[in-house]
Amino acid sequence: MKDKISIVGAGLVGSLIAVMLKKKGFSVQVFEKREDPRNSLVAQGRSINLALSHRGIQPLKLAGVYDTIAPFLIPMNGRMMHDQSGALTYQSYGKEGQFINSVSRAQLNELLINSAEESGVEVYFNHKCTDIDFEKNNISFENGVSVESDLIIGTDGAFSALRKKLQFTDRFNFSQHYIEHGYKELSIKPINGEFGLEQNYLHIWPRGNFMLIALPNNDKTFTCTLFFPFEGSPSFAQLSSKTEVDSFFDQFFADAKALIPDLSDQFFENPTSSLITTKCEPWNKGRSILLGDAAHAIVPFYGQGMNSGFEDVRLFIEMSEKMNWDWDSILPSYSQQRKKDADAISELALMNFIEMRDHVGDPIFLKRKKLEAKIQEQFPNEWIPLYSMVTFSDIPYSEALRLGKIQKQVMDEVLQSETEEIDYNKIIERFNALKKVG
Ligand code: FAD
Repeated sequence: MKDKISIVGAGLVGSLIAVMLKKKGFSVQVFEKREDPRNSLVAQGRSINLALSHRGIQPLKLAGVYDTIAPFLIPMNGRMMHDQSGALTYQSYGKEGQFINSVSRAQLNELLINSAEESGVEVYFNHKCTDIDFEKNNISFENGVSVESDLIIGTDGAFSALRKKLQFTDRFNFSQHYIEHGYKELSIKPINGEFGLEQNYLHIWPRGNFMLIALPNNDKTFTCTLFFPFEGSPSFAQLSSKTEVDSFFDQFFADAKALIPDLSDQFFENPTSSLITTKCEPWNKGRSILLGDAAHAIVPFYGQGMNSGFEDVRLFIEMSEKMNWDWDSILPSYSQQRKKDADAISELALMNFIEMRDHVGDPIFLKRKKLEAKIQEQFPNEWIPLYSMVTFSDIPYSEALRLGKIQKQVMDEVLQSETEEIDYNKIIERFNALKKVG
């Protein structure tokens, strides 16, 4: 295939789709505004990790890059909750053998860029896209370069230049929303050369309106993230001295604090960042399309931002192949079909924040989890918990959200009923009946 495809943004999604399109025989160029991360000391110095799960793994396998990253993944079998006294409770993520993986963002991105170059993709760094001409399929860059293509893919993240350009076109809808919480990353260094916390878990310190989480890294550090309101009580605004930070952590996260001797230094050295949800439609215009965060940035609480972006890539390639690479038909169809699933994961991610920070340690939540485990044990093929649908399956996000709401309704009914004996057959009948209706 002779079509020339230009991709704006060599982040996770851009580099992955570059590999896949090159393997399908296209001429592919990627333009990235930053310098090459493989030579950048800034990128190498930070260990920021992400949870990689089924929807992200499948496309990596299809692109032939999964085997290279697999040795660096750290399985996380479930949540390890830390209460305020330091007591631990464990909840598995799914059935026996189901787990999610901690992966270094920088390592995964570098590996994908390497794979893109090895498969023949041309990657240009220090190329910041500043303008798109949708009539001429032309991209302009800050350095004066301009490029014409048969297809332009915007994978330039939550603040996409391509999307900003679309905002000046007719009948383009866009919304953005910052939540009231920001986040700050902190690092737990190895203790006597070993992990400071148990290695194969995602650790959570749920504290009502805020929480701390920690994911393991290959160098035996843990990257902790504090999700915390910007304003109010307590909030980032209230922690303005080292003494205030120390006493706040002593009160709420004493066991984590004991593992971070330089806590207050890290707290003031590391940035506080905001969290945004963006939605837009359509994702396409002429021969241009948005994928990944550029099309749908979500809050990180379901660990699905990258995973959904990778799934975007798989579905885009599958649809394009089916439609014989006819871009003029593919782009509007893809945008229209995928949008509802992007909206659904966006809603699920916001819902999961409340679950993680507020409910995971709550007795009613635990009762519901126990009930759900029993229903699933009796009807493993009919009742798949919402977390499993989202994390371990290909069920479209919109369907997972719909079924999850029905499951909640059914469990609410059971938990509110006065009867002691639980009739699991009745539960599944009720679920199946509601499923057909909704
Ligand atoms: P990005 O990774 O943002 O890449 C965009 C690229 O485009 C960048 O390289 C950027 O430099 C480049 N670019 C931007 N503008 C231009 C321009 N004008 N010209 C050229 N290049 C440009 N997701 C998960 O699946 N699991 C998790 O556990 C998880 N945890 C997260 C935790 C936090 C705190 C945050 C903030 C996000 C998390 N995510 C997670 C989400 C995940 O990081 C994103 O969904 C993912 O990075 C999106 O990939 P992308 O390639 O679309 O965008």
